[in-house]
Amino acid sequence: MNPLRSLILAAAGNDAVRGLVASAPVSRDVVRRFVAGESTAEAVDVTKSLVADGLTVTLDYLGEDTTDRARAESTVRSYLELLDRLHAVGLAGRAEVSVKLSAVGQALGENLALTNASRICAAAEQCGTTVTLDMEDHTTTDSTLRVLAELRRSWPWVGAVLQAYLRRTLDDCRELAGSRVRLCKGAYAEPDGVAYDDPHEVDLNYVRCANALLAGDGFPMFATHDPRLVDVIGERARWHDRKPGSFEYQMLYGIRPAEQRRLASEGNVVRVYVPYGEQWYGYLMRRLAERPANVTFFLRSLVSR
Ligand code: FAD
Repeated sequence: MNPLRSLILAAAGNDAVRGLVASAPVSRDVVRRFVAGESTAEAVDVTKSLVADGLTVTLDYLGEDTTDRARAESTVRSYLELLDRLHAVGLAGRAEVSVKLSAVGQALGENLALTNASRICAAAEQCGTTVTLDMEDHTTTDSTLRVLAELRRSWPWVGAVLQAYLRRTLDDCRELAGSRVRLCKGAYAEPDGVAYDDPHEVDLNYVRCANALLAGDGFPMFATHDPRLVDVIGERARWHDRKPGSFEYQMLYGIRPAEQRRLASEGNVVRVYVPYGEQWYGYLMRRLAERPANVTFFLRSLVSR
């Protein structure tokens, strides 16, 4: 892995660095480039404008690695409030939610995470929308897939996320190809044994996994900003005779917004992942790690205040 990327991802998990960055006078512009805001109202406003531009949305209430029951509970309540608002303003048909199990208590026990995620799924069903379980680092993959399987007994539409950098993922894709699956490259620092280190290998595995998902009868969700992969997916989708609407593209809020609109204008379903909330640190660090130019942008904003 690129040394700068490893360094930033290591910093993302370091409490001292977290304290330093969180208390630094970070320009609102830097956080705002990737995060919709801190409140439910701001998240709903951003959703409204994306939907007005012909996009669909998945919302993530930021927070991860919770080791505190009260915080897990408050995360669940934030999701319930969000779903309620989306329904009230008529956006639930165009916006779903993405949930990290670590934010709803996975580290405190798989059962707690399952109970809390079930509450979110039940509320989503009432509102007429869906839930996708984000995937975190490889130590949580088996547990997350077990919780997913349990949730799908009641809500078969719950979305899975698989990461192309993991060596196991092609097998997981074959297993889950009949369902809703988001395929991404993967955003965590992983050891060599479990993940491909070479970006070219990750891209090749992404294409292999995309083929497996497109060949199945599920609903693949291709989460990538990589222009080459976006082209390959379009070409592979035609080859598999997949019509627009039988799969979707997904991109992160603030990254390649013009491309998001271009793909939608060509008739594709494009979903934008919109994070919001006060716990933006881990999310921001992963976005910085993905692109050295973002680090320069971030540092410049600190010194120019
Ligand atoms: P890259 O090779 O990283 O980037 C390709 C190009 O995209 C770059 O050249 C650049 O032009 C642009 N780009 C990419 N990242 C940035 C950035 N941060 N800032 C500016 N430009 C950028 N990962 C997980 O591990 N678990 C998840 O649950 C998960 N969910 C995701 C959901 C969505 C909708 C998306 C889009 C990504 C998700 N990810 C998740 C992150 C993903 O794994 C990658 O880390 C991230 O998308 C970058 O990979 P890429 O495919 O865009 O390709």
